[in-house]
Amino acid sequence: MALILDGKTTAAAWRAELAAEISALKAAHGIVPGLAVVWVGENPASAVYVRNKGRAAEEAGIRSSLVHLPESASQHELESTLDRLGADPLVHGILVQLPLPPGLAAEAAQERIPPAKDVDCLHPVNQGLLALGRPRFVSATPLGIVELLRRYAVPVSGAHAVIIGRSAIVGRPLAALLSRRGPLGDATVTLCHSRTRDLAAIARSADILVAASGQPDLVTAAMVRPGATVIDVGINRVPAPGTPSGSRLVGDVDFAAVAAVAGAVTPVPGGVGPMTIAALVHNTVAAARALAGAGTSRAAATAGGAHVSAGGR
Ligand code: NDP
Repeated sequence: MALILDGKTTAAAWRAELAAEISALKAAHGIVPGLAVVWVGENPASAVYVRNKGRAAEEAGIRSSLVHLPESASQHELESTLDRLGADPLVHGILVQLPLPPGLAAEAAQERIPPAKDVDCLHPVNQGLLALGRPRFVSATPLGIVELLRRYAVPVSGAHAVIIGRSAIVGRPLAALLSRRGPLGDATVTLCHSRTRDLAAIARSADILVAASGQPDLVTAAMVRPGATVIDVGINRVPAPGTPSGSRLVGDVDFAAVAAVAGAVTPVPGGVGPMTIAALVHNTVAAARALAGAGTSRAAATAGGAHVSAGGR
């Protein structure tokens, strides 16, 4: 039976460390990191994510604010809001909750966020720096995954990492991060997508298999090499007749079958999700430090990349 990579407990420990760092930042420099989450419309899944992010940030000592715009908000209103937050010295991190309602352009909105406050790492400048192997920020989900691997001492250097999914928020930045030179990287990465030929054979060659496709049960036991580490990023709501809500959350991995083959696997929920939220807290602290000229944390500095590592390396 595979080792369960417990994202919930690991994220709680990480957030506690970040809370201590925030207290120290406040004591030494008088800085309280500020995070603004911009949410447009009423998407129910987004409501949960926005609430969880705000709660986690506040529990760590971050000053968090939710800017909620109506479904009818125009692109101009959204961008004016981002301009205002960009100019606010008490706001160090800004993120726009996706998806946006139809008619609003997410990319134009991301580009309106000053790169130094872009804690979701979606601004082209930050994506470019990451692609060059010298990240300023790393999107929260890839950072959370790498931090989970690090805390469970999963060997990454020299490993074959296969990532299923090439989105700008998960697969692509994770590929850049794992393949970069140095700590937390040095993997050989294969980035797969819906046009990949013989996905099963490629997946079976992975030491680390990351599923970020949004397809329930895409990864079966037959696609996993015995002993491999499997990271399930997917969050999919599927019908569950007979349950009170009539649905349940599953990942992209057939968890029960894969757990019998893999060396380690993340559960859904309780795996990558909580690590993503802790990574957002980490990025906000890093942004506050950088904007205030307070230097990087000891751990980030020794990791050799501005804000990449969260601790202990
Ligand atoms: P996207 O829809 O943007 O990207 C999905 C990717 O998977 C695409 O590259 C797509 O290929 C690929 N794909 C889809 N079907 C297949 C298939 N059958 N075989 C191979 N590749 C396939 O999704 P996101 O990256 O935004 O999210 C992925 C999943 O992760 C979702 O379930 C989402 O809810 C979840 N998520 C979870 C987070 C967390 O914190 N745990 C954070 C972010 C996302 P192509 O490019 O060819 O279309």
